[in-house]
Parts: sequence; structure tokens; C-alpha cells
Amino acid sequence: EFRYGEYSEVVVATPNGDVTFGQNHPLVVVAGPCSVENEEMIIETAQVVKASGAQFLRGGAYKPRTSPYAFQGHGESALDLLAKAREATGLGIITELMDAAELDLVAEVADVIQIGARNMQNFSLLKKVGATGKPILLKRGLSATIEDWLMSAEYILAAGNPNVILCERGIRTFDRQYTRNTLDLSAIPVLRSLTHLPIMVDPSHATGKSEFVSTMSMASIASGTDSLMIEVHPNPAKALSDGPQSLTLPAFEELMQDIASLAKFC
Ligand code: PEP
Ligand code: MN
Repeated sequence: EFRYGEYSEVVVATPNGDVTFGQNHPLVVVAGPCSVENEEMIIETAQVVKASGAQFLRGGAYKPRTSPYAFQGHGESALDLLAKAREATGLGIITELMDAAELDLVAEVADVIQIGARNMQNFSLLKKVGATGKPILLKRGLSATIEDWLMSAEYILAAGNPNVILCERGIRTFDRQYTRNTLDLSAIPVLRSLTHLPIMVDPSHATGKSEFVSTMSMASIASGTDSLMIEVHPNPAKALSDGPQSLTLPAFEELMQDIASLAKFC
């Protein structure tokens, strides 16, 4: 018995109004820094994200870093800053939950809770977010098959939460020199043939390089994605995480204009 075929859209209530992720709705854009670093940068970023026409601000408070010595995120104080940015702009907030111990704290500020690639098969975490009514953004695991991924979505659905968005963020292949991961564009039509759950693409983590983010965004739209997640930073060279893949604020504004022109043809 699979439920992932049954649902067709996810409606998220944000301060600026309801935003619907789904096939017959306008493209939804989520943008923001990899991690919330300080008040100034998150508010500045949020204002540009809002002015450019995107609907959600992303930003990590709890970061899943490969090295324990790398910046781990500012935790609870970063959540407070996201709440401020939400209040200032009316944007919906998407932030990652890594540990069930922080579920209540994260759920308080997040309009959509992100389950990161590294936790895609953390089944106890999936059951816990499934028990909330919150919209969940489920990122594809680094080496997850489409079936693994849909089964993880199924954990959330089976726990009673129908609000799942699937995010393709690139998978591990053999080349890590020129791209960080390999964006599996074919996952978009394949998912479309298997499930009605809304689809998001994150070309930032997929490519790992800001110079390729725009091209892969366009390709994702042409392939039928329902939404995009883009990392942006006021000063990528100084970012505490994922600077090389982050767009500057002007580059993001330009991307949003390109998206608007392309949307006319899709
Ligand atoms: C992120 O979105 O900040 C992130 C860590 O992504 P992923 O889980 O896809 O690596
Ligand atoms: Mn990141």
C-alpha cells in the first residue's frame, strides 16, 4: 500500500498568504543563505529575496557538516533571526531539522521543515515529523535511489502527514572535481510518472558552483519542476558555509528575471 501517488499539491500558509506547491501552480522559489550567520546578513538577504518575487527564505540554524570542526550553525539564536526575517518580509521560512530534540523549536519558526539529504533515511526522525501537520521538504539522500526516496516520503505520509515536497539536490557520481554532485534532471519526469507529490530542485547543492546554478535552474524549469531552492549570500567569498555555490544578491535578482521570461514558455 503506497500513498505517495495520492496527493497532488501542498499548500503552505505564510504571512504573505498561502503558497501552493504543485503541478498546476506557478513556480515557487525558495532562496537564502546556506546558514544564518548574523542579523544583518539574513535581513538584507530576506529583503532582496522578497523584492525579487520569491516566496520563501531558507537558512540553516542546525547544519549537517561533514567535519565536526566546521561551522555547525548558530542553532536557537539563528531560529530567532529567521523569525525576525519572517516578520520583516512576510516570507515563509524553510529551515532544517537535524534532531528530534529540536522539533518544537524549529516547528515554531519554520513554515516548512527541511529534512536534509543526510537524514533522508533517519526513519525515527521521519516518523516524528510525520506526526506533525507541518509541510516537510524531503531532500534526496546523497546516494538514494528514487525508490529509497519515495519510501522515505512514505514514512511521513504513513504517519499521517500528507504535506511532503520532494527535493532533488544532486547525487554522488564519480566526478567531484568540476561539480559537487550530479543533478539528476531525469528524476523530475520520473517522479512525475510515479507520484503527485510536489517537486523541488536545488541546483546549488547539486552543482556546488554558483556559475552553473542559473543554467541548471532553467533546465529544471524546462523539465517540469514545481519549485527551486537557491543559495544566496550578500558576500559569498566570506560565507561560513557553501560560499562557492552561493549567488550574490544581484546575481539572484538577475536569475529571477530570467525565470520570469522562461516561465512564459513553460
Ligand atoms: C542545505 O540545504 O543546506 C543542505 C545541507 O542540503 P543537503 O541536505 O541537500 O546537503
Ligand atoms: Mn548549503
